[in-house]
Amino acid sequence: MTTVIPFDSKARTKKANPRQSLQPGEVCLLGAGPGDPDLMTIKGMRALEAADVLVYDRLANPELLAFTAPNCEKIYVGKRKDRHSLPQEQICDLLVALARCDKKVVRLKGGDPFIFGRGGEEIDILEANNIPWQVIPGITAATGCAASTGIPLTHRDCAHALTFITAHRSDGELKFNWELALQKDQTVVFYMGLSVVAEIADGLIARGKAATTPIAVIANGTRQEQKVVVSTLADIGEAIANSDLPSPALIVMGEVVALRGQLHAVVRQIGAAG
Ligand code: SAH
Repeated sequence: MTTVIPFDSKARTKKANPRQSLQPGEVCLLGAGPGDPDLMTIKGMRALEAADVLVYDRLANPELLAFTAPNCEKIYVGKRKDRHSLPQEQICDLLVALARCDKKVVRLKGGDPFIFGRGGEEIDILEANNIPWQVIPGITAATGCAASTGIPLTHRDCAHALTFITAHRSDGELKFNWELALQKDQTVVFYMGLSVVAEIADGLIARGKAATTPIAVIANGTRQEQKVVVSTLADIGEAIANSDLPSPALIVMGEVVALRGQLHAVVRQIGAAG
């Protein structure tokens, strides 16, 4: 069965007055982008300005808080040094409770809310509780890091597809679809994989991927503190062990990583010629 659903512009976009971009009792899941606060969308800025309450976590750049109104209440739900982050269930309960108090609620999340950001779980709960919601997308870590390192994620010569994979451990075991990561002519981006880079690289080589495949690990992408380690599958484990790369970090694997230098050289040449 096929259903055609028209874009509900009345419900999802209210342009006339920026201060009315959010209604009382509504929750807006807002993508903060990967780190550089200037990468937030204009629509996102308007939502920040309109918020009565901001619920934010660790990956959202705190500089964005400065764009909220002076009386906006700011609630941090990320990890603290001595404590874990607020469990997801409690974050959802908090969003529902705030909306029921007729607040304009902005839930600020790192990157894009719908890419490994549990945005889907949050809107499920909001729907179940009859709370109106909207999502404002953000630049995800992959596209942010690609831009800030000069690595093109797709390329006509060598990368006709792009795969995003979460690479964290569950029950002590590294679980993801290895077959997917082994496909040819693509770029693979691993989120949440810093602590398992060596395991990923060894696992891919053991399953037949060329040990010479280029791979980059980008920490704090798009931020002033950005650091990049570029290597091959064979050597990345050691390179990361010898580096002090902090999280958050993203892994990009594929031939496009090797293009990085070439593209920089070309850009320099064009600049010199112009
Ligand atoms: N919703 C986010 C992803 C959340 S999962 C998004 O769309 O980007 C968290 C993971 O994202 C981190 O473990 C890391 O792999 C990646 N990440 C987020 N911000 C990053 C940054 N500035 N630099 C590198 N990786 C980042």
